[in-house]
Amino acid sequence: MPVYEYRCNNCRRKVSIYVKSFSEMPQPICACGSRELTRLFSTFARIKTDKDVYEDILSDSDLVKRMMADDPRALVEWSRRMEGGEGEENPEYQEMMERLEKGENWQKVVTEMQQRELASETESHPELTE
Ligand SMILES: [Zn+2]
Repeated sequence: MPVYEYRCNNCRRKVSIYVKSFSEMPQPICACGSRELTRLFSTFARIKTDKDVYEDILSDSDLVKRMMADDPRALVEWSRRMEGGEGEENPEYQEMMERLEKGENWQKVVTEMQQRELASETESHPELTE
C-alpha cells in the first residue's frame, strides 16, 4: 500500500496518508487543520525499517553476486539502497561503510554482519532455530 508523507507547513508535524493505489492522489489534511503540506519525496512509500532494507539487500542474490564479482556499481547501488532506508542513522551501516573505507574485505564484513544478524534473530525468535 503506497504511503504519501507530508510535512505540515503550519505545525511541522509529519503527516502520513495511506492510499489504495499510486494513481489515487490523496487530499492531505493535518491534524491541526492545515492543508498546507509539503510532500516528503525522500520518504515516499517507505514503510520499511532499516533492518528490512538491509535484509532486502542481502536477499537480493543478483546484487550480492555482482558484489562477489567486485563490481563497483553494485557497491554504489548497495550504499544507495542503504541510504534510501536512512542507512546513515543505522549504526551497522556506519560501521560497515567505515570498515569498507579502511579497505577491509567487504565479503568478510558482510559475512560478519550476516552472522551477527542471524545470532540476534535466533535470540529474538527461538522458535525459528531449526
Ligand atoms: Zn499541522
